[in-house]
Formats: sequence, structure tokens, C-alpha cells
Amino acid sequence: MKLIDRFNRVHDYLRISLTDKCNLNCIYCNPKNLQRTLINQTELLSNEELLRLVKIFLQSFEVRKIRFTGGEPLARKDFLQLFEEVGRLKKDYDFEIGLTTNGTLLKENLEALKKFWFNKLNISLDSLDPNKFTAITGSDSLHSVLRSIDKALSLKFAPLKLNAVIIRNINDDEILDFIEFIKDKDMNIRFIEFMPFTNNAWSKDGFISSSEIRNIIEQKYQLKTLDEKLSLVSKDYELIGYKGKISFISSISDHFCDSCNRLRITAKGKMKLCLFSNGENEIDFRRIFREEKLSQNEIEDRIIKALQMKEEKHSDIDSISRIDQNEMISIGG
Ligand code: SAM
Repeated sequence: MKLIDRFNRVHDYLRISLTDKCNLNCIYCNPKNLQRTLINQTELLSNEELLRLVKIFLQSFEVRKIRFTGGEPLARKDFLQLFEEVGRLKKDYDFEIGLTTNGTLLKENLEALKKFWFNKLNISLDSLDPNKFTAITGSDSLHSVLRSIDKALSLKFAPLKLNAVIIRNINDDEILDFIEFIKDKDMNIRFIEFMPFTNNAWSKDGFISSSEIRNIIEQKYQLKTLDEKLSLVSKDYELIGYKGKISFISSISDHFCDSCNRLRITAKGKMKLCLFSNGENEIDFRRIFREEKLSQNEIEDRIIKALQMKEEKHSDIDSISRIDQNEMISIGG
């Protein structure tokens, strides 16, 4: 059966955060000054538990896409074993596998990812300037990310997407540099609106809307709407003479809740109905697996019931910015 909510939205996309650990301290996600206690290793869902979950969603609910995220998913010690097992499921189920990563630990794992059927690769890249990259991420690792991107291109990962969170007076002066970066590259640069999460120092002053980013681009280039949509959440364009494609993700200024098809499993093993839900109606899979020891049918019932509590859309920006304990680093974007 398909997972359909009260608003007739089919949920066929599951995003799983593998850890709340990250080797970067991006100012918009995991700032350095954040006093954070990492989840204890034993509190993360184990590979066996994650695999059990994945199978339930594929088998019982016809989920068609699984994406691993984090924290930094490649900072989890046993990620390759999990990825191999998930890749094996491709012979029984028709689904796509994706990974969202900061790219720093990616290069040496790309061949394995190919082998395990991970074809939907999203790499975060918020600056092309080494000093600014360090200022944003707290790490001097732009060169590693760029090398990963080059290798991913040479291994023909397609579609290869770059995620850039644009923040006013931080990296908005690089918007056109990103466009030039994709000129000869078969990839999709996605400009993402800066979203508020607990402790991420979001402010209205730092926010820059997709339409403003677009205006900046259109002062120099002529964008042409793409016929084919690159994702459910983006508005997609091409530039004549440019190989790369350009997208805008306007979660704040023009939300896309009416087409939401996503469910999320956080690093703590909780199912989140919306990126901006406030902790209510979450299912705790760790408790289900370890204490309640529910049967497969009972777990399925819980998921179906929880989904019926999903709201039609997320609240306005002021309410979102006040939500407590909604840390992106644990949810995984
Ligand atoms: N570590 C991985 C990475 O850097 O891609 C995966 C986790 S990260 C939380 C997933 C995505 O969320 C990244 O593309 C990141 O840019 C985005 N993200 C994190 N915080 C954000 C924020 N406050 N606003 C918009 N996007 C954000």
C-alpha cells in the first residue's frame, strides 16, 4: 500500500539521518559555539535496525527513494556495510538511493557508492573561495570537496547536485561565481534559502529569498525554464551555452508543502513528519525496536497512524524560528 496522508499526498521518499556527528561546523547548521552533546553511539539505530526500517518502507509502503544524510553520513563508522546491504535490496525493489554529503570524505568512497547503486548524489558547497569556505564551515577543506566533485563527475554520477545555502553578507557575492563554476560541468547548482533551526543563528537580516537571488543572476544572464523538473522541491532553469543547470529551493518564501512526499528518520531514530514539526507525533523507532519490540504489522500501523497527523503545511517563519530542539544537524535536511 502507498502511504497517503489526509491531504492526498503520497509519501514515497524516506530520508534517513545516519548520525548527528559532522566534521564541519557550518554556521547555518552546526555552529562551533553550539554546546551540543553528541548522541551516544548505542543510541543511534544500528545497521540492522536501519535495514529493517528500510525494508518495511520499501516492501509495505512502496517507497521509491531512500536518501542518507546526517550530520555527515560518511562520518558514521559502519556506513559502507549499511550501504552495501541497502544496495543489495535493489534486486528486490524498484527504488533510488541518494546521499547528501559535505564531500570532504567522499572521494575515496565514490567507487563503492557506484557499486552499491547510489546514483543520486548531493554535495554541499557554500563557497568557492578557500578563506570563505573555512569561515563558513570551520574547516580548511575546500580542496577535498572540489576533488570529490571532480571525481564524481569523471565517474559520471548523474544527476550530480550541489547545494549552496545563500546567506546575505556571507556568500551572496558568490552567486555568479557558482554559475560560472557549472558552465562546463554536467551538474545542477541549487541555491537554497537559509532556514531557521534551533541554535543556527538564523536572522531575518541573513535571509535572502530565491527571487532576490534570481534577480542577481538575471542582471547578467537569461534564465530559461527547464522543461523537465529536476526535483519536486526546486524551480529549475538552464542558461544557453551552459552545461550545468540552476535551481532554486524556496522553502521559506514559496513553500512546496502541497507536493511534500517526504518522511524523515532523525539520527535519534525518530520519524519526523515535517522538517519544521515541533516534536509532536514522532514515532520513536529505537523504543519500538528495543523496548516495545513490536511486530512488523504493529510497526506499520504506527507509521500509518502517525502520517495522518501530518499538517497541511509548515507554520510561518516567525513560529518556525521559535521551535525548540529542532536541530538540522540531527534531522539531516
Ligand atoms: N553533512 C551533509 C551535508 O553537508 O550535505 C548532510 C547533512 S546537511 C544537514 C544536509 C543539507 O542541509 C545540506 O545541503 C545543507 O546545506 C542543508 N542545510 C543545513 N542547514 C541549513 C539551513 N539552516 N538552511 C538551509 N539549508 C540547510
